[in-house]
Amino acid sequence: MQQSLPDPRPAEGLRPVINVSGTMTSLGASIVAPEVVDAVAAFLPHFVEMNDLQRKAGAVIAKATGAEFGVVTASASAGISQAVAACMTGSDLAKIEHLPRTDGLAKTEVVMQAGHMVNYGAPVEQAVRLTGATPVPVGGATEAREYQLAGAITERTAAALYVVSHHVVHYGQLSLAAFARVCRAKGVPVICDAASEYDLTGFLKAGADIVIYSGHKFLSGTTSGIVAGPKELIRATHLQSHGIGRGMKVGKEGIVGAMVALRAWEKRDHAAARAKEEGYLKFWKERLEKIPGLTPFITPDPTNNPLSRLHVAVDPEAANITAWDLADRLSAGSPPIIVRGHEAELQYFFLDPCNLHPGQEETVAARIEEECAWARSQPRPVRSDLDARNRAAEEALMRWPD
Ligand SMILES: *Cc1c(COP(=O)(O)O)cnc(C)c1O
Repeated sequence: MQQSLPDPRPAEGLRPVINVSGTMTSLGASIVAPEVVDAVAAFLPHFVEMNDLQRKAGAVIAKATGAEFGVVTASASAGISQAVAACMTGSDLAKIEHLPRTDGLAKTEVVMQAGHMVNYGAPVEQAVRLTGATPVPVGGATEAREYQLAGAITERTAAALYVVSHHVVHYGQLSLAAFARVCRAKGVPVICDAASEYDLTGFLKAGADIVIYSGHKFLSGTTSGIVAGPKELIRATHLQSHGIGRGMKVGKEGIVGAMVALRAWEKRDHAAARAKEEGYLKFWKERLEKIPGLTPFITPDPTNNPLSRLHVAVDPEAANITAWDLADRLSAGSPPIIVRGHEAELQYFFLDPCNLHPGQEETVAARIEEECAWARSQPRPVRSDLDARNRAAEEALMRWPD
């Protein structure tokens, strides 16, 4: 087992952020599991025949998911593109090299519910369009029906994409089982984007043909995507590395990392991990409920992952600060605390307990207490204009690298 090395961030001038936002790729995704760190370090100095390594990884993916086979891609997003391309070209190398031009291809459309057209850092439908395919929305944002899905499927439909995520609209959507039933009746393969989901077998059981996970999220692997499905389609997915997948190349460290992360996941003491997370949540709840204007409560994950978070409701009058200003001050302070704040405009944020090093739970509580005490000492309510705040974030991005 590797020794834990000193924190390299200060020497590089990087802020020592504490992540209570979840497995955010913008923060480096997750704490990579020690088994993965060791395995990657052992492989890095050696040459390896990559098709053989992928063959080994495929067997590990098959065992973990119950699929016939699997392949590792550069990311889940790359997995979506390559799986969609596979459904258009099959294993025909001439067609694979022809993408993203789609002239000469019979099937070039991908149906998906409008409520699933989300952005995980980039639009999911762009991962489809990268291949040359055309996404076809089904239904409206908050309502999709089986007849609408059936009506959207034509002889041009190459695949159907189903997204499982906290990002999607959570009502009025078709279940994966219903979605897959309609698609299966019409001979259309279903690709399920389950990048952030813990359940390695359920989506295939519910009827998906291909399921895609991120290796670097809950699995705590290196940056990678895991694609599981029937051998024919997995082969066609892998062969895209001779075409549009070339620019999405996964290295040996990504493949080994995903393989070992899957094996480690099988052996992990999930009950102990959950108990540790629940301990952090209770600790934070007790500390934060003493702060005027904050109402913390423990809430389950919206997509039924075996994980809870602390929902921290902010009463901007009683706390003298809005949820988004509190989140911004926590992130700007020292040490920086990044909360799960994508819904902060609704006056709450979450604390996610999955990615903490021991002792950080205390720092998080203390920093929230400190910022709230500061807010109460202000003569006027701390309330920045939400549009201006969002514009400032965009402007800061546009100034990168300055
Ligand atoms: C994170 C995420 C992705 C992208 O995953 P990467 O492996 O980082 O490319 C795709 N879909 C969903 C639903 C996600 O949550």
